[in-house]
Amino acid sequence: MESHHDGDAQLWERIWHPHPEVDAATRDEVERFFRESAARQRRPDGEFGVFAVRPIPAGTILIYQWHDAYYVGMLGWVALTVAEINGLPPAQRALFHRYGLDHDFGVMYGPLDHEHVTTLDNFINHSCDPNLGYDAQGNVVARRDLTPGDELYIDYGEFVVNYDEPFTCQCGASWCRTHVTRNDWQFLASQTERSLPPFIARRLRAAAA
Ligand SMILES: [Zn+2]
Repeated sequence: MESHHDGDAQLWERIWHPHPEVDAATRDEVERFFRESAARQRRPDGEFGVFAVRPIPAGTILIYQWHDAYYVGMLGWVALTVAEINGLPPAQRALFHRYGLDHDFGVMYGPLDHEHVTTLDNFINHSCDPNLGYDAQGNVVARRDLTPGDELYIDYGEFVVNYDEPFTCQCGASWCRTHVTRNDWQFLASQTERSLPPFIARRLRAAAA
């Protein structure tokens, strides 16, 4: 039996139902690598973060097609429209907002129960100077070489399109935006070094056509 990072047995109990459009073998291989390469740990401020526990070279795929395929068929996760999310009872809505992931404009995948928050990606924090990003297939990849102890960060503005984020960013970057809004992707799309997830790239292509 593998040892569990930080006593996180719960984080190992995720279940996907088979789905004809998801390459489960690739997803599972990437998932296994991510779990072996990173761990959920407490930060000095008491919040959870995800930290590298092995060297991770730039370009390494860490999450398989995060917005398109990763949550498809995952036990306890559902795709809801913004109207449906807004109609959830307050506790469920808060959980959905906290862990839900934008799947498309107007649609998010999220958990309906805390026991289904079982994967490392739920604990990746935001930075305006992220060391994770996207490749052209929508996989989350390391943007630079990571060494053990590095906290992994992604820029939430690269994928948040449905709700503004409630927190104040303190990432320390000189270009820190302080807040992440559902419109940040429009500005970030103009930065050529950024690659945005496929559902946003499709929107940009449609707008340009
Ligand atoms: Zn920031």
